[in-house]
Amino acid sequence: MPDDTVRAWVGLGANLGDARAALAAAFEALGRIDATRLLRRSSLYRSAPIDSSGPDYLNAVAELETGLAPHDLLAQLQAIELAHGRERPYRNAPRTLDLDLLLYGDALIDTPTLVVPHPRLHERAFVLHPLAELAPGLSIPGRAPLPALLADVAGQRIERLAG
Ligand code: ADP
Ligand code: MG
Repeated sequence: MPDDTVRAWVGLGANLGDARAALAAAFEALGRIDATRLLRRSSLYRSAPIDSSGPDYLNAVAELETGLAPHDLLAQLQAIELAHGRERPYRNAPRTLDLDLLLYGDALIDTPTLVVPHPRLHERAFVLHPLAELAPGLSIPGRAPLPALLADVAGQRIERLAG
């Protein structure tokens, strides 16, 4: 691992088929990304779909250490998504696997294909809860501290799964 690595956070979501198996496979695939280590994984969380349809989602986050540039890391995430099926008939359709680059160090990135911090991360309980589980003191560039963000999403149904 080169010296110039960055701590990156990835959000995982799945709500079709065997979502639990999809997330387990995704964590393994994250650990195999070039120049990247999977440091920690959160518990699994069950949440109701937002702006989407179908059964409940399972969500989690992963903490990575990576030597990849942000767009290269995104390309790796998209390759993993594709390997898990392309069932995306329409926008916000239920998906077998969704991987979002939530944070890349303290970088602020705003390009047509990549926006970091992820533009909706601060308003999604299913991202904020697993992030807070692993890193309660984490700061999200340009946003309020995690406890304040969590208070704002208190109305969203979410359940942390055992084991
Ligand atoms: P969702 O926001 O619900 O995860 P999608 O996964 O369908 O929606 O969005 C994928 C698109 O979002 C990709 O084309 C990708 O280029 C773009 N995108 C922009 N910023 C990010 C990011 N931080 N992480 C993942 N995809 C991103
Ligand atoms: Mg996505």
